Parts: sequence; structure tokens; C-alpha cells
Amino acid sequence: MSGIIQLLPDHVANQIAAGEVVQRPASVVKELVENAVDANATEIKLIIKDAGKTLIQVIDNGKGMNVTDARLCFERHATSKIRHAEDLFALHTKGFRGEALASIAAVAHVELKTKQDQEELGTHVIIEGSKFVSQEVAVLPKGTSFLVKNLFFNIPARRNFLKSDNVELKHIIDEFERVALAHPAIHFVLISNGAEIFNLPSTNYRQRIVNIFGGKTNEKLVPVNEETEIITISGFVGKPEFAKKNRSEQFFLVNDRFIKSSFLHHAVMSAYDGLLKDGNQPSYFLYLQVPTHTIDINIHPTKTEVKFDDEQALYAILRSAVKHSLGMFNVAPVLDFER
Ligand code: ADP
Ligand code: MG
Repeated sequence: MSGIIQLLPDHVANQIAAGEVVQRPASVVKELVENAVDANATEIKLIIKDAGKTLIQVIDNGKGMNVTDARLCFERHATSKIRHAEDLFALHTKGFRGEALASIAAVAHVELKTKQDQEELGTHVIIEGSKFVSQEVAVLPKGTSFLVKNLFFNIPARRNFLKSDNVELKHIIDEFERVALAHPAIHFVLISNGAEIFNLPSTNYRQRIVNIFGGKTNEKLVPVNEETEIITISGFVGKPEFAKKNRSEQFFLVNDRFIKSSFLHHAVMSAYDGLLKDGNQPSYFLYLQVPTHTIDINIHPTKTEVKFDDEQALYAILRSAVKHSLGMFNVAPVLDFER
């Protein structure tokens, strides 16, 4: 006797997954740019129109895909990045779920052009709402271009739910800045409606921060450096007198990934105890490296929340590292901190 339970067809499963992974144009940007980083690109160009509502394109000069993978990459749970459950605790890539491209292709019109360095020719794939339209041989440069048009064309409710272009563009710029901060060696370009918004040459961490947030940022940065067995901290915190009213310059990059963490934020704030005017927010750009097995990033689809093994120890180390840096600055305000 057959029951009433049925397996969902792939295109339905993809659309459900897309509901979690692809919330707005900025989610597409995040996934595509992270894939380009994972492909070892040294140059990543992001082109958007109408805040990504009509067009999002990411062009990279990374390793590209062969003919088979260029099709397979749109399948759910199709990934080159992990093979075993244990790999989840030794992650060195941004992606690992193998869900992003399947989700994006389920809710948009997608064109993929990709060529591997050693190949003569590349491949051009068109997929719309999870349906393969075509795959053809093409003359292409090395690397990959994903073009995403008409996002949420088949989910009007989602499309209508999108905010104004200004708001959606702000979300895109946030995602762009986060990944650009994490990877200063990569040359990033952002073009919106034909205008170049960012052109960030390959550089070091300090200069990348300055290139994104403006020349005046340089004088407010105090370096932080701490190395212990369970964490290595580097980066910069802002001098207290440059604190702002908002939290727009607060970044934790854990193992090269932007994350949100209220307990890490609290640790930094406690290091500023007595140094800030009420309600003021210091700038911080803190790079934390922890052993991959001590962190779980598989708790949320967008991977911006993570779980650390030993939160209390990390809290104490971070707090004292920031305090130490601010203290050095306080007792020796004339010192020039390696500009
Ligand atoms: P994940 O990143 O979790 O593996 P995605 O759906 O984002 O899943 O991508 C699926 C696969 O497609 C990746 O594992 C990778 O092999 C390939 N891929 C995606 N984007 C690129 C790119 N820009 N360059 C080369 N390969 C890519
Ligand atoms: Mg990915």
C-alpha cells in the first residue's frame, strides 16, 4: 500500500532552499563573490544594475570549470569543496553546502561562462528557473562569469518585498566590503549602473581598510597583535576619540570570513571601558584566526554566525589584546604606529 508522502521534485526543493540562501540581491552577490574567492581569483569584478534587481554579474580570473562541472554546479548539494562530514571541521573555503548556485538558478535567469586555463575553449550555460536552456562551446578568457538576471522572476511576492534601490545597494556594498576586507590581496572592482563605486587594488590589510573607508581612516587605526595557541589576533582598533554614533566600522573576520558575534563585540567594548563617550562606537577591523576544528560555521545558511569551542577564553584574550593596544596608544600618544 502506498502512503501519502512524496519526495519533492528537484525544482521545488531548490526553490525552498533558495528561500533561505537568496533573500535579496546582496545574497546573490555574497555567494558569487565567495565562489570567485574559492576559485583562487586574483581579480574579481562585480557589475550590478538597479541594485541587482535587473542584473548581477561577477567576473573572476580564477580556475574556472570544465564542461561537466559547468552543468553540475547548478545541482543541489553539488560541491567540489567537501567530501566527508569531517571536512566540515577543517574548512578552508567559503562555500561547502553546494546549495548557492542551485538556489540562485531556481529563482533567476542565469548565464555561466567559464574556461579553465589549460583548455582551449570554454563553455556557456544558460539556466532559467532550474531549467537548462542551453550549453554551448565558447571562446572565453580564463576564469568564470556568472550573470544573474531578473531575480525572483518566478516569486512575485519576494520581488515585491525588495526594498528601494538605495537600500538594496547598501546591502550589496556591505557584502562587497566584508569580502574585500577579508581578502586584501585580491583586486576587487564594483560597478553600479555603469559607475565605478570601488576599485580596490591588491594591497595589505591596513591599506585595504583605508581604500574602503577613506584616507582619514589611517590616522585612527591602532594595530592589535596577539598570538596564543587557540587564537591569533591581528588588525586594528580605532582610537577612542574617533568613535562614531553607529556601528558601521565594526568588523570581525574569523578565518577570513566576516562574522557577527555579540560576545566578541562585548569583549572589544569592555576593553574600551572608560574611554568612550556614552553611546559612542569605536571602529574595529579585527582578524581572528582559530584552528578550523575549534569553530562551527555550519549553524546558519549565510554562515555569518559561528560557534566557537571556548568562548570564555577567546573573550579574555581579545579583551586583553585590545586593551593592551589602546594602552600603548594612551601612554605613548606620540608614537608612530607603523603607518
Ligand atoms: P559551494 O560553494 O558550497 O561548493 P555553490 O553552489 O556555490 O556551492 O557552487 C558549486 C560548485 O561550483 C563549487 O563547489 C565550485 O566547484 C563550482 N564553482 C562555483 N563558482 C565557481 C567559480 N567562480 N569558479 C570556479 N568554480 C566555481
Ligand atoms: Mg558557494
